[in-house]
Amino acid sequence: MLPFANIAIIGIGLIGSSIAHATRATMPSARITGYDSDPAVRARVIELGFCDDVSDTAGSAVTDADLVILCVPVGVMAQVAADIADDLPDDAIISDVGSSKESVLAALTKVLAGARIIPAHPVAGTENSGPDAGFATLFHDRWCILTPPEGAEEGDIERVQAFWQKLGANVEIMDAKHHDLVLAVTSHLPHLIAYTIVGTASDLEDVTRGEVIKYSAGGFRDFTRIAASDPTMWRDVFLSNKEAVLEMLQRFSEDLSALQRAIRWDKGDELFDLFTKTRAIRRRIIEEGQDDAAPDFGRTHD
Ligand code: NAP
Repeated sequence: MLPFANIAIIGIGLIGSSIAHATRATMPSARITGYDSDPAVRARVIELGFCDDVSDTAGSAVTDADLVILCVPVGVMAQVAADIADDLPDDAIISDVGSSKESVLAALTKVLAGARIIPAHPVAGTENSGPDAGFATLFHDRWCILTPPEGAEEGDIERVQAFWQKLGANVEIMDAKHHDLVLAVTSHLPHLIAYTIVGTASDLEDVTRGEVIKYSAGGFRDFTRIAASDPTMWRDVFLSNKEAVLEMLQRFSEDLSALQRAIRWDKGDELFDLFTKTRAIRRRIIEEGQDDAAPDFGRTHD
């Protein structure tokens, strides 16, 4: 039996369209209704044909839904929840895919008091956005973290878990605050560092921009992939997970100062030990199937 029969997806960018494609592929009899605030996106979704219906308003998209998934930037979750509040069926489960969870849970709980809220965060993505960017296998063997509020119905959690498992994800259940701390380390801080490095390199006056691009294979270009991620999405992530990001940034700054000291005072052993430890982390990521073992991220060199 399918966990849900009528799924409404609000916000049809990379994640929304990937959920639609993956649902089509794994639960073909489920009905998918989409809505996006951008009329050009709605027109494109009709052209691409991965939704059964595309609504003109958020409210009309959810009237028959048994699962509603908000796939919009974190900063507009509260607004979208208010837009659907009057039309959300009592027995529907409302979920989202936001990259930070405590603020989204608070916003949804406030606007949709009494609703069956089971937030989720699929830890999968690319640097692309929009309805053309999605694909059915995005969630395969990736983690999806559910952060249900205290008192959520066990049956509701199980249905959302079954849904994500059908899409190919492994599911973990976590407290929203803990999620935000973990993701601050594994996702938000790396994005902040990439944005900084790419920004600094493009501002350097005694090295030309042409040279930065020409010699980017030295490591720079791998940061540019992350730094090409959607500006709206990431602005909202940093502002909504401020506390955890600032805490991690403080730790990072201290560790960076320690490295600075090690270089200044020729502490080669310290540098070597750290780089040996970090290499082992890369190996573990590959062993656990979270990345490919091919050298240079699988780029071909012929
Ligand atoms: P995206 O490709 O930019 O798609 C978001 C879509 O939502 C856009 O089409 C946007 O339209 C639309 N939208 C904005 N405001 C709206 C509103 N008020 N009502 C309805 N639609 C609205 O972004 P995404 O990468 O799919 O990210 C969506 C969510 O997934 C975010 O919360 C993000 O934190 C989370 N997430 C992203 C990733 C990732 O790697 N990208 C991974 C996991 C989770 P406009 O273009 O007109 O603004």
